[in-house]
Amino acid sequence: MAAQPFKGDPLEGLAPAMRARLRGIGIQRWEDLLLHLPLRYEDETQLTPWDEVQAGEMVHVEVEVLNHEIGYRPRRTLRVFVAGGLPQLSLRFLNFFPSQLKQFQPGTRLRISGECRAGFQGTEFVHPRYRVVDSETPLATELTPIYPTTAGISQTLLRRWVEKALKRSTQINDTLPDQIRTELGLIDFAAALSILHTPPAGSSVQQLEDRSHPAWQRLKFDELLAQQLSMRQFRNERIQLIAPPLHSHGPLLHTLKTRLPFALTSAQQRVMAEISEDMARSHPMQRLLQGDVGSGKTIVAALACTQAIDSAYQAVLLAPTEILASQHFAKIATLLQPLGIQSAWLTGSQKKREREEALQSLADGSAQLAIGTHALLEDPVLFKRLGLVVIDEQHRFGVEQRLALRRKAEQAGTGQPHQLMMSATPIPRTLSMSFFADLDVSVIDELPPGRTPIHTRLLEGSRRTELFTRLQTLCQSGGQAYWVCPLIEESEALDLQTAIDTEAELKAACPDLSIGLLHGRLAAGEKSRMMQSFSLGEIHVLVATTVIEVGVDVPNATLMVIEHAERMGLAQLHQLRGRVGRGGKQGWCILLFHKPLSDTAKERLKVIFENTDGFEIARQDLRIRGPGEFLGARQSGLPMLKFADLEADMVLLERARDWADRLLKTEPQVAERHLLRWLGQRSDYLRA
Ligand code: ADP
Ligand code: MG
Repeated sequence: MAAQPFKGDPLEGLAPAMRARLRGIGIQRWEDLLLHLPLRYEDETQLTPWDEVQAGEMVHVEVEVLNHEIGYRPRRTLRVFVAGGLPQLSLRFLNFFPSQLKQFQPGTRLRISGECRAGFQGTEFVHPRYRVVDSETPLATELTPIYPTTAGISQTLLRRWVEKALKRSTQINDTLPDQIRTELGLIDFAAALSILHTPPAGSSVQQLEDRSHPAWQRLKFDELLAQQLSMRQFRNERIQLIAPPLHSHGPLLHTLKTRLPFALTSAQQRVMAEISEDMARSHPMQRLLQGDVGSGKTIVAALACTQAIDSAYQAVLLAPTEILASQHFAKIATLLQPLGIQSAWLTGSQKKREREEALQSLADGSAQLAIGTHALLEDPVLFKRLGLVVIDEQHRFGVEQRLALRRKAEQAGTGQPHQLMMSATPIPRTLSMSFFADLDVSVIDELPPGRTPIHTRLLEGSRRTELFTRLQTLCQSGGQAYWVCPLIEESEALDLQTAIDTEAELKAACPDLSIGLLHGRLAAGEKSRMMQSFSLGEIHVLVATTVIEVGVDVPNATLMVIEHAERMGLAQLHQLRGRVGRGGKQGWCILLFHKPLSDTAKERLKVIFENTDGFEIARQDLRIRGPGEFLGARQSGLPMLKFADLEADMVLLERARDWADRLLKTEPQVAERHLLRWLGQRSDYLRA
C-alpha cells in the first residue's frame, strides 16, 4: 500500500524545499508522517488555577491584554502586558512579526501555554504558545502533541498534516491478523496512532511519555516484528545461496586434533562441532563465535581453517591490528606448517617483494591460508579457491569490509564463502536476538582450566608510585607486567608523550628491570619485534598505549596497570584486563583513576571493579550507553529501533520473534505487508 498514491495525501503538492526538510526528519511517505510520533504532550484540556501557578512549571492560563510596547535595548523586544491572576504579568517576544502586533489589542483574551518565570518586572512568559480566544472558546478535548521537528516546519503545520493523514483511517489498515492481537492483547493500529497523536483528555501523560501506554505497546510490537521479519528474511535468502560443502573428516583436521598443545575445553569442542556442521552444508555459514577474552577462540579458528583446507579450499583470517595479525600468524602458521599447510602473511607495511610473493601464492593456490590486516581487502588480493572467511574481533570491522572478502570468493568463482566472525565483546542477549538475529551464534562459555579470576583494584592516580616496588618484586621473581598509558583523544602526539614519560619514569624507579615501549607510531616491524621480545620474556614491563587492547596473548604477564582508567570504555577496560591471568598464576589489574570523576565514569569503574564476567559487563555497558552507541557507527547498515527499547521491551521482543517465525511459515503475505509499512524503501539499505 505504500507504493500507491492515495487521495488526500498530505504530502502531495508540497514544494520541493519543504519535502527536503521533511526528508531530513525521516518523512517521505504519508505513513512516515503517521509514525512521526510526539516527543511529549502539553495539557491544554484545562486551565491551571492561578494559585497553583509556579515559576519554572509548564502552565496553561487565560489572560487579557492590557497594552504592549516595543523596546530596542539591549535588543528589539516586544513586551505584552496582561491581566491575570497574578500582579504584573507580561509576555516577552524576541522575534515577532508585525502581524502579531495586531493580535495584542487591549481587551483581547489569550490562552497561554508555557513556563512562567520571575522576571525583574514581575512574572513573565518568554515566547509562550498562545491562542486568541473569547469567553465561548472551548478548551481542547485532547492533549496537544509536541513533535520532533526542524527549522521551517512548525508544530502547527505538522499537526495539520498528521491530522489529514489520520483522517484517512480507512486506509490505515491493520497489518496484524486478529489472532496476534487477541493473543497478545494489543489494541488496533489506527486506534493506537490516534491515541498517540491526539490523546483524549484525561489520558495519562506519564504513561504516554514513558511509553508504557497500550498504544505504545502496540507500536513497539509492530516495530520489533518488522525487525524480526527482515532478519528472518535475510536468513532465508542466505540459505538459498550456494557455498562449497567443506567436510569434517579430512586427514589434516584429524592430525591437527591429535597434535594440539592442550586438550580443548568442552565449550571449545561444542562450538567446533557447530562450526564443522555448518561448513559441511552447501549454503554459506554465517556464524558468530562469541567467547570472553581468553576463552580460546584462536584455536577454534585454526581448526575451522584446517577443515576448509582439507577440502582443497583456501581460508582467510582477518584481524584488526597488525600486532594481532602477526601474533595469529606466529601461532597458527607454526601450528599448521608441520601438516604441510602453507600460510601467507599480508599487511599494509610489508616490503613490496614479500607482498608480491604472498599475493602470488594466494592467487595460484600454493598458500592455503592467508592471515593479515585490512590489506587483505584490497583489490590486488585474489584467491584461487576461497572457502572460508574468518574475521577476528568482528566488531572492529564495518559491513563494507566484511562484504569485500565475500566478493573475493565470488571472484574466484567458488560461490559464497562460509563466514566465521569472532568477538570477545560479548553481545548481550537482547542484541543477539534483535540486531544479530540473522546470524547463528556459538558461545564459548568456559575458560580453559587453571585460570583464576583476576583481582581488580582501584587506586587514585596520585598513588601510582606505590606500584613501583610491587613491579620490582613481581618482575624479579620472573613475572611480567603491562603498563597502559592514558588515551588522549585529541592528540596522538600527547598520547605518545605520556607513554614516553612513563617509560622514563619507570626506568628511573626500577633500574634493574628491562622496560619496553610500544605505541601506534612505531613501524609495524618494530611493533612485532617489541611484542616478540615481551612474549619471550626479554622485557619485564611493557609500557604501551592502547594499541595492545585486542587479542595480545602473553601468558606469563600477570599484572596490568591502566592509567586514567576513568577515560576508557567498559569494553576496552575488560579487553585490557583480559591480557593478564592467562597462565596458571594469579592475575592482577590495577585501575588508576583521577578525580573529578563524572557520574558515567564512576558507574563504569564500579561495573568493572565488581564484575569479571564479560557478558555481565556487556549488559551493563548496553544499559549505560544504549544500543546505538554500543553497536557503534561501524555496525551501521542495521536500522536502529525508533520506538522499542531493548531492555525495557524484552518481553515484546521475544513475542515478536516467535510471531515472526509463525507468520513467515503460515502467512507470508501478511509478513510482506507488515514489512512494507515499517521499512518501505529502507529495506534496500538494510541489505548492506
Ligand atoms: P581469545 O578467545 O581471547 O582469542 P586465545 O585464543 O588468545 O583467546 O586464547 C587465550 C590463551 O588460552 C592462549 O594462550 C591459548 O593458547 C590458551 N588456550 C586456549 N585454549 C586452551 C585450552 N583448551 N587449554 C589450555 N589453554 C588454552
Ligand atoms: Mg583473540
